Amino acid sequence: MKIAVLGTGYVGLSTGVCLSQIGHHVTCIDINEQKINQLLQGISPIYEPGLEDLLTANMEAGRLHFTTSLNEALAGTEIIVVAVGTPQGDDGAADLSYLVQAAKDISAYITSDTIVVIKSTVPVGTNDFVRKMIEDQCGFPVKMVSNPEFLRQGSAIEDTMKADRIIIGSENAEAAGKIRDMYQPLNVPVILTSTRSAEMIKYASNAFLATKISYINEIANLCEAVGADVTDVAKGMGKDKRIGEAFLNAGIGYGGSCFPKDVKALLHTAGLNGVEFPLLKETIAINEYQRKLLVTKAVKRFGGLKGKKIAMLGLAFKPETDDMREAPSIPIAEELTKFEAEVVAYDPVATENARKIIGDKIKYAGSIDQAIFEADAVLIVTEWNEIKGMDVSKMVEKMKEPIIFDGRNCLPEEKIRACSSVEYYPIGKPPII
Ligand code: NAD
Repeated sequence: MKIAVLGTGYVGLSTGVCLSQIGHHVTCIDINEQKINQLLQGISPIYEPGLEDLLTANMEAGRLHFTTSLNEALAGTEIIVVAVGTPQGDDGAADLSYLVQAAKDISAYITSDTIVVIKSTVPVGTNDFVRKMIEDQCGFPVKMVSNPEFLRQGSAIEDTMKADRIIIGSENAEAAGKIRDMYQPLNVPVILTSTRSAEMIKYASNAFLATKISYINEIANLCEAVGADVTDVAKGMGKDKRIGEAFLNAGIGYGGSCFPKDVKALLHTAGLNGVEFPLLKETIAINEYQRKLLVTKAVKRFGGLKGKKIAMLGLAFKPETDDMREAPSIPIAEELTKFEAEVVAYDPVATENARKIIGDKIKYAGSIDQAIFEADAVLIVTEWNEIKGMDVSKMVEKMKEPIIFDGRNCLPEEKIRACSSVEYYPIGKPPII
């Protein structure tokens, strides 16, 4: 099939690359010329394992193209997949301005046969609204399909090629059938719904996962108070099939480009429709508390942080990505500087993106060793393999004081116990002192 994908971000680029990998002819379009220029050279503008290899292989096979020209991409295209950003607006609602602009951009190229697929995460009713907007321009019925995306950054290719399910929401059976055919080579279970249910499935899923994280984090805080170990508790809970093991890792809260904004957008939709949804308000409040927990613990341990050298290990919102959107490292860096600590941070890939957001309030190191040198304490913020695999005994020798606050419970306890001098504060379990 001939497919155009609008937006070459984490979702659009991964989708475009995977659709070309399964044999379709795909053209990806972006308004960002710099991104397209990089892509034309076979360079991925984002860090995503496995992406660049597939990108170059499919470009060489002639199935994957990049352009900033709508005319070049959309003429004769059967399917247009819209994967532009829908960031959080000032009132908590999803900001649909990129989507509205994209809908205006594509209107001129749509024929009665074109199928418009909205892959971006959009509030319930948006597909209807966009369809009406395009129909007002074109003057004929437009085939719309809501096809929300569930990939995780850091494993986007694997998640797309081996998705748990594909949601296809449409009021047009022929269009839904064609999108099912588009994905057929993936051999993934498909769920057909209305557009509104498809839109809701995306928000309900993300809000559920965020709530599961806040729940285990609140259990972790209670474990600390009563002397239980949240890792054991989560293991015991997770073996129950009704609960499941995923998303039961206690830590410093959720972040990233999706959970924070999607939970707030769902709460906004609820409010607009007269539904209070106090559970989601608590999910957000617990997360806000959790994001600052490492600093709260450090302040308590030292009785203040003025002049203390604090090494932050990890900046990205999770490992295997360079994405800094809503990363817990941002409020942590802010809190630390508020307490007048001297902060030196290290991340294997996200430093440049972090610098743009956090700025020069903190220093950035080129290695773990550089970051921890003469530090009064280490805060583990992102559980990169390099950080999890650190030699703890060698590490503490380089520090001024051997104090570690592990926000991801990622250092093996036997390594900590083998090192007699260390003071180790994990989340939701007794410290090792
Ligand atoms: P992103 O910000 O990384 O990328 C969006 C891209 O769209 C940018 O490159 C931007 O330049 C481009 N763009 C904006 N307007 C355009 C236009 N008119 N024409 C062409 N390109 C345009 O966003 P993302 O993380 O890929 O997310 C995209 C959507 O998918 C969002 O709605 C998001 O909520 C959803 N989503 C994201 C993830 C994720 O893990 N990132 C997962 C599932 C769903």
